[in-house]
Amino acid sequence: MRQAWLRKRLELEKMMGADVLPRAQGVEAELGTLEEEVRRCQRCRLYERRTQTVFARGNPRAALMFIGEAPGQEEDRQGLPFVGPAGKLLDKMIFAMGLRPDDVYIGNIIKSRPPENREPRPDEIAACFPFLERQIELVRPHIICTLGRPAANALLGTSLSMGDLRGKWHSYRGIAVLPTYHPAYLLRSPGQKKQAWEDLKKVIFALAEGPPEPAALL
Ligand code: URA
Repeated sequence: MRQAWLRKRLELEKMMGADVLPRAQGVEAELGTLEEEVRRCQRCRLYERRTQTVFARGNPRAALMFIGEAPGQEEDRQGLPFVGPAGKLLDKMIFAMGLRPDDVYIGNIIKSRPPENREPRPDEIAACFPFLERQIELVRPHIICTLGRPAANALLGTSLSMGDLRGKWHSYRGIAVLPTYHPAYLLRSPGQKKQAWEDLKKVIFALAEGPPEPAALL
């Protein structure tokens, strides 16, 4: 079963490689330029207190992209997303899916740390969102997994609760999006890990078999 799945995944990677190789260099260069733009950004006041911006980590040619909320203290210090305690759990979740962190692309809705890790404000999200839009356009993931309610709400333009959103397939510009719990929440509420794993299994299946048809997305 696992071997069949791995074979499927390799086929998918081969297929993706054929698709993306000619544009790979351009994509990486364009992401580099975008990251530089983000580094200089002063579109909202979060720039005043950040140590540095936090753009992304992982594979810019990944089929799967994870999107979190905002950098925390450790991310602000290192300049990389999900490198604190929640990031350690996210990496474990990725390994449990049979992937490595370098197989996926990981980013956030906003690129600067909000003070005291408060939730990003709508004006901050609006100011930063074009950067995420461009990242998604360049990476062209087949599947996006959002982590936590703020990320799902911002990406999908909704205010639905996590209970309503999680575990169901949604669409962002035709890309299949599966919202699940934020790993920081899972650290506080380990009882919910089982449900998060049910969500991730849907992602594993979609990576192997292809995402749901656009008509099946909410
Ligand atoms: N939480 C997030 O949403 N993003 C990070 O990068 C780290 C913690």
